Amino acid sequence: MSFEEANFPEDINRTISAKSFKKPTNIQSQAWPIALSGYDLIGIAQTGSGKTLAFVLPGIIHINDQPKLKLGDGPIALVLAPTRELAVQTSEECILFGKSCGLSTLCIYGGTNRAGQLREIQKGVQFMIATPGRLIDFVETGALSLKRVTYLVLDEADRMLDMGFEPQIRKIVSQIRPDRQTLMFSATWPREVQGLAHDFLVDPVHITI
Ligand code: AMP
Repeated sequence: MSFEEANFPEDINRTISAKSFKKPTNIQSQAWPIALSGYDLIGIAQTGSGKTLAFVLPGIIHINDQPKLKLGDGPIALVLAPTRELAVQTSEECILFGKSCGLSTLCIYGGTNRAGQLREIQKGVQFMIATPGRLIDFVETGALSLKRVTYLVLDEADRMLDMGFEPQIRKIVSQIRPDRQTLMFSATWPREVQGLAHDFLVDPVHITI
């Protein structure tokens, strides 16, 4: 799928032009038609492949199709990431590509000001990027509801499992409606990652690049 075929809204196309991207990367051209059609997806891809925009842009389109944000609304799109660094990088792409359509993005991670993050959650958010530990804290204290999430991404799933996040991931996903769309990205495809995919995704399309 080319940029033209993806048929993104004009403001996203303008940002793509501003970045001087010539054509979609391999993972993007394969993932977009699947993600934009609402299917579950497993992408085996490394950092540097352009995988972030492979799920961020369909996520923005997904949100644009939903009712407008109200104060205190929980996220519609949720990305789980293993580290603060990856979460911040991903949220920067969301902010860049979502700002002209008024997307509200929030990045949640541990080891930093909880009260500030709580205030942001209370304002309402459409696209949330989070590390599992801090997210589960907000969910378990009732500060954050995941009942509106319909677009879920597990990014760098193998790394999240290596870091011991499986119990938190399972708790988080158990709070999300089963008829969501789920995308999972991983650099490797070991048995543990296959197990998560089996439990969380429905008839996923596999892409390996
Ligand atoms: P990622 O694998 O998502 O971390 O992306 C790696 C880098 O590739 C980032 O700096 C992106 O801005 C850049 N990138 C993403 N998509 C494209 C594209 N279609 N053409 C050129 N660079 C891209």
